[in-house]
Amino acid sequence: AKANGRGSFARYDRDMGTEVQERVRLLRNLRNAFQHDRLFLNYQPQIDLSNGRIIGAEALIRWKTESGELVPPDSFIAIAEYSGLIVDIGQWVLRNACFRQISLEKAGFTNFRMAVNVSIAQFRHPQFLDMLEQALADTGINPALLELEITESMAMLEPDYVIGVIHKVKTLGISVAVDDFGTGFSSLSYLQRLAVDRLKIDRGFVNAIRSPAQTTECIAQTVIQLGRNLGLTVIAEGVETETQARLLKQMGCHEAQGYLFAHPLDSSELVRWLEQHRD
Ligand code: C2E
Ligand code: CA
Ligand code: CA
Ligand code: CA
Repeated sequence: AKANGRGSFARYDRDMGTEVQERVRLLRNLRNAFQHDRLFLNYQPQIDLSNGRIIGAEALIRWKTESGELVPPDSFIAIAEYSGLIVDIGQWVLRNACFRQISLEKAGFTNFRMAVNVSIAQFRHPQFLDMLEQALADTGINPALLELEITESMAMLEPDYVIGVIHKVKTLGISVAVDDFGTGFSSLSYLQRLAVDRLKIDRGFVNAIRSPAQTTECIAQTVIQLGRNLGLTVIAEGVETETQARLLKQMGCHEAQGYLFAHPLDSSELVRWLEQHRD
């Protein structure tokens, strides 16, 4: 409500109040859930489009409330970032994902790449690299099979700082992907300086792929070309139809992830799915 009369002001204040209260409550509940192990990870398989083989999976956080309700990450990651809680949660995610990768290796799913989302608050934390090294040491994961996903918009926030951290991450042997690519405004030269391994085409551009006739106009095509020209691997997220998968492959996209192949799965579902798709 705008300032057209006292009544409106009052309503505005009250709305603001409830919104703040709501956020405080959400944060308290999240902290509580984190302390009581009600956060867990799902894993969404990633596929090599050239041969249909399984490459690995992306770890995605889930929050199950005491009443069994699932809270989607889009509704709590922002507040976790804002409050700084994401640093601890992110460390937990990373370690858990690494341990899962190791147990998959032990179960015979070798060379399984684990992709983990990292937020800017984690990335700029002074102990981030120590934390990474500690996770590698404690879990014994092969760093070449660990990938960090950072969003394009986050990478753009503090370009030089982010470039510096990426270089150090890569020195550890860990690979880096730019997530939600195409939604930010990174320039070609910046992308080159970022020195990442993979571009992940944002779901919105994949969703826009509908028929063979319009592939030349679609942004996905441009992003794939850009990635290929820079010598990067390109992965598409949010692939839901056979047509999208086929056209992405034709456009030169290397890898894909989406409901067409599998939804995000909990750890036992993932193992079952992998067993069914073993080649
Ligand atoms: P994201 O990294 O872009 O992850 C992709 C999202 O697309 C996931 O939503 C996934 O479930 C969803 N998705 C996968 N395939 C399809 C598809 O075919 N169609 C559609 N419509 N959606 C698909 P989710 O799991 O709800 O996660 C939302 C966002 O929350 C993620 O977006 C990521 O930004 C954030 N997030 C999730 N886990 C973590 C985490 O551990 N740490 C941090 N910092 N952020 C996380
Ligand atoms: Ca991601
Ligand atoms: Ca994404
Ligand atoms: Ca996203």
